[in-house]
Amino acid sequence: MNNLIIQKMKPIQGDITRLKVDAIVNAANKTLLGGGGVDGAIHRAAGPQLLEECRTLNGCQTGEAKITKGYNLQAAYVIHTVGPVYTGKPDDSRLLSDCYKKSLALADEYHVTSIAFPAISCGIYGYPVEKACRIALDTTVSYLKVNNTIQKVFFVLFSSSHLSVYQAYLDSIK
Ligand code: ADP
Repeated sequence: MNNLIIQKMKPIQGDITRLKVDAIVNAANKTLLGGGGVDGAIHRAAGPQLLEECRTLNGCQTGEAKITKGYNLQAAYVIHTVGPVYTGKPDDSRLLSDCYKKSLALADEYHVTSIAFPAISCGIYGYPVEKACRIALDTTVSYLKVNNTIQKVFFVLFSSSHLSVYQAYLDSIK
């Protein structure tokens, strides 16, 4: 059972803005008006219309997700989710898990069959990647066990060290 699910999940190294999938997930901030890191890269690649649409959304709470079109991206949609700033408190993991759950649920609602996640909260927001990786992968496994529209989930890591962390954890839960 786990194996069939895990075959749908693929960690890769690269730039999420280049991916040909139905939806990419943005690690946004609460304003949804752009920022640094992956958020800045997605806005640059999608073009100014993305910011225009984001202005109509009235921001987003931590652990929630909102969807827009992808504009100049290969992806039809961008799902914007706001990860927690890492504090070391129990709320962190619940909120980070919510980001994955809500993004996957929104993707399903839009009949998305392929989706790509960055390492939400693992940059400026300071979440240790070993901890965040377990939450990302465990939450996705649980989701895919009970929902089968989504056929492929990419985890796009910027660095080879992050890729190794994801690959090792995925191998351990096979
Ligand atoms: P957060 O504020 O949620 O921590 P960041 O954008 O600072 O978000 O970082 C999230 C992760 O995304 C980091 O691991 C960072 O290295 C990575 N990242 C930055 N740019 C890209 C990109 N173009 N594609 C994929 N991952 C990226």
